[in-house]
Amino acid sequence: MLESPIKVLALDADDTLWANEHNYRQIEQAFCRYFSSYGTPESNYALLMELERTWMLPNFGYGAKAFTLTMMECALQLKERAARGENTALTAEEVRTVADYGKFLMIPHIEVFPGVRTSLERLKASGRWKLVLASKGDLQEQMDKLKASGLESYFDHIQIMVEKDVLNYQRLCRTMNCRPEELLMVGNSFKSDIAPVLELGGSACYIPSEFTWFVEVVEEFDHPHLLRCKTFEEFAERLLNE
Ligand SMILES: [Mg+2]
Repeated sequence: MLESPIKVLALDADDTLWANEHNYRQIEQAFCRYFSSYGTPESNYALLMELERTWMLPNFGYGAKAFTLTMMECALQLKERAARGENTALTAEEVRTVADYGKFLMIPHIEVFPGVRTSLERLKASGRWKLVLASKGDLQEQMDKLKASGLESYFDHIQIMVEKDVLNYQRLCRTMNCRPEELLMVGNSFKSDIAPVLELGGSACYIPSEFTWFVEVVEEFDHPHLLRCKTFEEFAERLLNE
């Protein structure tokens, strides 16, 4: 399956080990419905997506706190659009509702995918690889989710990155004292987990998830060091049987 000897397995967290993105879809829908007197749910969602890309990411990065500010900005802009010069202040109830949406996302709702725990146990017990949790986003939120998952003890190292790009994967290799060709990254985002690691000279396993955030959607390609699996369990099984 893989030509080069892999020493480090780096695993993405959200939507690779546990479901996460569906919480954001749920809150986005609730937000768009709640403000439907200022626009259709579809046009509200279009503005929210635009703001996530052009306002949130450049200013605040990833995570629930950044997204809460984005919902607040979106609510203001929706009201401004609808009011045409009238009073556009958000009401106390509107501010409270958006804050509650944000709080829902900040509290970890972790459902570890079936087979993940057993697979991690088997990978660790084999002693063949160092296991790294490689995630991006808000440090506090990612650590809270990891704690809630109960999976922390399987990892030799936790790396939360601001962005999953070639430079940060290079740093990860330095931290783990491995060459890029000794790294295998597993994840559900082709843009963040797969493409930069292949570019660096490592290997990757792509496990597409049910929900993908639109920002993470890129054109996929084939590569000799790219595996594709349906589940994390399938990936672990294939690796352990090498
Ligand atoms: Mg992910």
